[in-house]
Amino acid sequence: MALTFDDGPNPKATAAILDVLRREHAHATFFVVGEAAAASPELLRRISREGHALGNHTWDHAHLNVLSRSTIDDELARTDDAIFAATGARPRIARPPFGARSFVVLDELRRRGYTCVLWSVPLANDWEAVGAKTIAERVLSNVRDGSIVVLHDGDRGRPADRSATVEATPLVVEGLRARGLRLVTVPEMLAESDSR
Ligand SMILES: [Zn+2]
Repeated sequence: MALTFDDGPNPKATAAILDVLRREHAHATFFVVGEAAAASPELLRRISREGHALGNHTWDHAHLNVLSRSTIDDELARTDDAIFAATGARPRIARPPFGARSFVVLDELRRRGYTCVLWSVPLANDWEAVGAKTIAERVLSNVRDGSIVVLHDGDRGRPADRSATVEATPLVVEGLRARGLRLVTVPEMLAESDSR
């Protein structure tokens, strides 16, 4: 299964989540918002250096379904460039904010060579002030082999208090492993399903 974090990077929370993942020897995938990525290139470098994957989550968390083709392309391209500027690599995966994927959005993603990655378990709504235990329970009650789980390390690219998500991360990782699940990045998961 793949654990993914959306809407960052968010200086405090993303760094704290990376600390947890390092301690747990677990890898995750971060779908970053371009303007936040451009503001924190060192965090992007750390994500990539520590073996996690990066994905494009648009420049400013736009609802792509209502935008023109050229604006959609701009949202993707600017974010792609910010990730490349920080890490030297271009992302191959993208997650449209709100899961908005009209025919035009999917076509633009395909044209840029992106695989569109959504999620396969109900959102844990970790942005609600529900506490770490509840977030972990929401994730663990739905997850199974092949699941893609979404948590949030930022708030649509803006810094936000994500301490509950930070605190939930080790509970989630340990709970997944207790269920016999192996944590992989989204690109690793896609490569495995390709080779089957
Ligand atoms: Zn988002």
